[in-house]
Amino acid sequence: MDDQLNFAPCGFFTLSNTGVITEVNHSLLNLLQYERSELVNQHIETIMTVPNKIFFHTYFYPFIQLNGYVNEIYLTFRNKNDQGVPVLLNGVRKERGGEQFIDCVLIEMRKRIEYEREMLNSKRKLEELNQEKDLAHETLKALHTELELKQAELIQLNQQLETQASTDGLTGARNRRFFQESLAASIALFNRISIPFSLMLLDIDFFKRINDTYGHPVGDEILIRLAQTMQEQSREIDIVARYGGEEFAIILPDVNRDNALQVAERYRRTIEQAEWGEYKITISIGIATVTSEDTAETLLVKTDQALYVSKSRGRNRVTHSDDA
Ligand code: GH3
Ligand code: MG
Ligand code: MG
Repeated sequence: MDDQLNFAPCGFFTLSNTGVITEVNHSLLNLLQYERSELVNQHIETIMTVPNKIFFHTYFYPFIQLNGYVNEIYLTFRNKNDQGVPVLLNGVRKERGGEQFIDCVLIEMRKRIEYEREMLNSKRKLEELNQEKDLAHETLKALHTELELKQAELIQLNQQLETQASTDGLTGARNRRFFQESLAASIALFNRISIPFSLMLLDIDFFKRINDTYGHPVGDEILIRLAQTMQEQSREIDIVARYGGEEFAIILPDVNRDNALQVAERYRRTIEQAEWGEYKITISIGIATVTSEDTAETLLVKTDQALYVSKSRGRNRVTHSDDA
């Protein structure tokens, strides 16, 4: 064997037709840590692992006998210290001097296998990271949904609070604070774009007697029913508020004097004709319609005076401040 092959950067060996090593180069001896005398004339299977021996029998020999060559066979030889040495092997069948030989070259695969292992490791780590990322994403999504839910709850709660803050506890009508704000807003709107409105104050007639005769809880029930009835009779844009004890104020947007009188008369009649059991309930109403001279205070005074006139003229009636 010449030096070029002997010290080539690959292992080289020749097998006899029966698998006995007849030639081996220095590079392979070096790789497997054997002396030449230890390998030459030995069967190739003496430096193979058991699975490789089986593989050799079932694949290597039949293939090379049939095709005259094998390419890119992955094998693990055992070195002198019984450690595995993974290699990639090519073999070719040759006839020399009437005898069959198998010439093989091989290169060590350790680096590549390590490299592959590292790649596999990296891939697995990447998969783990991806899983973590997916999990984090799911958690984030769940948190986001929860946040949206909480926000919706908060909005609802705020609306409830707002409604509560503007609602009379007993009757469910708007409270006096809300009424005052609405009246100021209605005056401002009238001053700005001349949308007229009428204001109505209604007061239950002789309500003290009801309380005195039937008791305060009955009086409360009547107040609740009265508020409900007024609410049913009013439009969406009307503001029905409890102004004081048994007095209610109603703002009627876009309603002039004549229409206000009609509306008030309808309210009065509805209450008078409603079924109140053994009691008789009537209401007196005062109305005023806004003019350009009015403030919230003057309009309230006018309405109150009209109500007073309804009372003094015998109750259960409607008076517009223009007629007071
Ligand atoms: P008038 O026809 O002049 O209005 O007579 P009135 O008895 O209704 O008037 P007055 O102002 O003398 O009495 C109002 C009564 O309303 C006094 C009080 O007992 C009653 N009242 C005020 N607030 C409530 C309430 O929240 N519940 C009950 N049950 N009664 C109330
Ligand atoms: Mg009163
Ligand atoms: Mg009264």
